[in-house]
Amino acid sequence: MSSIRILSDRVANQIAAGEVIERPVAVVKELVENSIDAGATRIEVEFRNGGKSYIRIEDNGKGMSPDEALLSLERHATSKIREAADLNEVSSFGFRGEALPSIASVSRFTLRTRAEGWEHGTEIKINGGKLLDKKDCGMPVGTVIEVAQLFNSVPARRKFLKTDPTETAHITYNTRLFAVAHPQIAFRVLEGGRTVFQSPACENLRDRIAEIWGRSLADDLIPVDVSDPKTGYRLTGLTAKPGVGRSTRRELVTLVNRRPIDSRTLGFAVLDAYHGRIQKGRYPPAFLFLEIQPQEVDVNVHPAKREVRFRNDGAVRRFVLGAITDTLAAATAAERPQAEAPKLETKTAARVVESARPAAPSPSPAVAVTPKSGPSATISIPTPTPVATTTTATNTTLAPATKATPSWRLITLLKKQYGLFDTPRGLVMLHIRHADQRVRFERILKSYKDSAPPSQGLLIPHPIQLEPLASEALLSHLDLINAQGFEIEEFGRHFYRIEAVPAWLAPEQAEGFVRDMVDLLRQRGGSRKQNELVWEAVAKLAVEGSYRRNDLMSALAVQQLAEALLTCETPHTSPFGKPTFNEISWSEWERRFGKE
Ligand code: ADP
Ligand code: MG
Repeated sequence: MSSIRILSDRVANQIAAGEVIERPVAVVKELVENSIDAGATRIEVEFRNGGKSYIRIEDNGKGMSPDEALLSLERHATSKIREAADLNEVSSFGFRGEALPSIASVSRFTLRTRAEGWEHGTEIKINGGKLLDKKDCGMPVGTVIEVAQLFNSVPARRKFLKTDPTETAHITYNTRLFAVAHPQIAFRVLEGGRTVFQSPACENLRDRIAEIWGRSLADDLIPVDVSDPKTGYRLTGLTAKPGVGRSTRRELVTLVNRRPIDSRTLGFAVLDAYHGRIQKGRYPPAFLFLEIQPQEVDVNVHPAKREVRFRNDGAVRRFVLGAITDTLAAATAAERPQAEAPKLETKTAARVVESARPAAPSPSPAVAVTPKSGPSATISIPTPTPVATTTTATNTTLAPATKATPSWRLITLLKKQYGLFDTPRGLVMLHIRHADQRVRFERILKSYKDSAPPSQGLLIPHPIQLEPLASEALLSHLDLINAQGFEIEEFGRHFYRIEAVPAWLAPEQAEGFVRDMVDLLRQRGGSRKQNELVWEAVAKLAVEGSYRRNDLMSALAVQQLAEALLTCETPHTSPFGKPTFNEISWSEWERRFGKE
């Protein structure tokens, strides 16, 4: 085989390569995709110097016959049926029969492959698009492709490559994504002889994640499986438990029809669903598979980047947001102690609960979910569990503590600001102040959702004088405020009398509270949704009066606080986005101590 043949379209290949193979990781992606398409159950990736000097992809897929092997290196040669219409299908990513010739045109390229039923394999060597050699070789069924000295013949492209560690990080990250997308395929990734990761074929996604990212991350995830019969969308996979956040979004992985995809639409939908459920500025780890009709996805974007556009972006966003929101709401509900509903003493409180029921969001994804899941979003109002604190003097919803065994058991109070709990999932450190704020906040919001929140008359009406602008602000909101459990009357120019306050507000705090509220109303008076403004202002102010480090809270009160927290709609963060508790799971302890 001494004849040297110049493959057709050599220049075209180099141009295509320059356009779409931006960096070594693009080569790895294309070759691994081919291996997956070839039905491989085992794929090995080896690379050196961030893939710049050497990449090897080996698979046990169906391989190619000698003719197919040669053909695969011709431009637009593809064994995958492709008609014009298919080009819009997400399953036709990539180069459309250009990957192998393009890669071979800008590297020292070796293909070795053997198909079932052939006694020997075929080895083809190409350098910068020139066929150097083709011969028989001995090998098992499957394909090995080696790509050395990438972009050697294209110095301009080489210049744009990043440092070895950066390119390495890209390859590592992307091969992990492939491994996640295909748990049933065994993967091994080596960098310069060192194993980066290795995972046998896994039964399921959780095992695969545990193999690659560690058991403790895998244990922090809950399953998602939601489909919408109307659109045919389906979302499956694993997503962070409420409260679990990470400092980067690297573990927020989205796949569309099993291909890892960068999608702002999906990313934002997921982050939105976690709003208020994890600390601000943190990202939920999640591995989410969206199944969608191929025609609904537009892949007519740069092929080297895994970006897609959805035909109906809004619908996809709403579906994903709704699916995760429902999954998280169900998980939060499941974590609540299985207590019988506590008896409520006041008629008003009981009515709050009843009237709230129909408003609870349906778990069905077909139902549109309010886009923002902050404290002011849709309500699934849990039965309020009372909490005794030292700072709220009066509380009509105060009722005897729940009788059922609590799922969190207080071990001790620490440093006057924490409660340490033994829970079914692990050890929990509760931040008393943040938790107290959350509980108060939701309790107040709840009473404000009701048209007539419980109110208490003051024995001696409290006079209050305001400066003109403040007076004006109060006057223009007076009806609204009075509809929220206050009774404030004007009885002279800039003079008012507080006759009654909402049940949750201690009478001695009434004046300061009204003054603060007026200030807030003045600051944010431009808003249209005045009603919401009032109760949000009220709730935020109210929590400012919550537990402080030097207040003394009894062990019983802290136990009750925890129980009340677990009935909250978004128990993991304070109204200001701070975490309310931190957990170290039992499996994490096991991991730290090591198995017996
Ligand atoms: P495409 O994947 O778009 O068809 P490629 O240039 O990536 O284009 O591959 C060309 C053809 O080579 C494929 O259609 C397939 O028939 C064959 N091929 C490539 N890689 C492999 C592999 N690892 N195992 C078996 N066949 C392969
Ligand atoms: Mg391909």
